[in-house]
Amino acid sequence: MKKTISLLALLILFSCGKEIVIPANFTFNHNIHSDLPSDWESEFYTIMNNLDDKIKIIPKDYSYEMDIYAWKSTTNKPYQSQIGDADGACICGNQNERYMVLEIPAAEFDNDQMHRYSVIAHEYFHVYQMSLSKTFYDHDIELKWMSEGGATTIESMYIQQYYNYNYFKWDVNDVNIAAVNNPSIYETYAASSDKDRNYSSSVFMLLALSKELQKLNHSEEEAFRMIFKDFWLPNPTDGNWTNNFEEVFNITVPNFYQSLSSYDLNADGTIDSTDLNSVLPSETILLQNIFVN
Ligand SMILES: [Zn+2]
Repeated sequence: MKKTISLLALLILFSCGKEIVIPANFTFNHNIHSDLPSDWESEFYTIMNNLDDKIKIIPKDYSYEMDIYAWKSTTNKPYQSQIGDADGACICGNQNERYMVLEIPAAEFDNDQMHRYSVIAHEYFHVYQMSLSKTFYDHDIELKWMSEGGATTIESMYIQQYYNYNYFKWDVNDVNIAAVNNPSIYETYAASSDKDRNYSSSVFMLLALSKELQKLNHSEEEAFRMIFKDFWLPNPTDGNWTNNFEEVFNITVPNFYQSLSSYDLNADGTIDSTDLNSVLPSETILLQNIFVN
């Protein structure tokens, strides 16, 4: 977009007597450490451009820019003065500032793991979720299976679309039986952290919700748009999200949790790694057709 148009589109808000200027576009400030391979760095910019094109982050008065800090794990916390001890991959920070941390494990380069790229889409999607919903930005809603299941589904769809590799099947396939027998534990990190390797169980639940919505005659793209976007727009909280869920999806949470047992391929009350097959999205689904508006 031409710079002149961006400047004209500047939105000026007044709040508490203080002028807040919200830019027309969300901005990421990149801090890419020189220890990262140059081909990763160029792929990083390609991925960020693709995501910006397909999943537009809306600048808000509470969040319209973010610093990204990326480095290879063999370098010991090169950005400590800016981000302290933050490591791994996260949207971290505090009430004053949030930043994206991408510490890429050295082993992911040695083994050519897709995760060195998919993690970018995962963290990007969390920023998108924050732009949709201030309650999510403020940590007023946890709902891990929708939040992490959503970010992990997006990272898998990104890899499927751009690398022709079924990341769902090969990297997110460790579904725990608890996702069928006791799904409410996936509403919090604390209750489910040891039963959600690579967030596979959260992804299973999220993909099953897309199948249930398709049974209600929504297209696959529409179903995912409702899950990734529409659900977050009314600012759900830990206290009211079940009502929000019913209003947006026209399915009650207990009925949805009940329906999960129908996605057990073994049909014998057991679940195994093949069970993600019963909920996999189409391999030809495109992000631009999900986030069409
Ligand atoms: Zn995440």
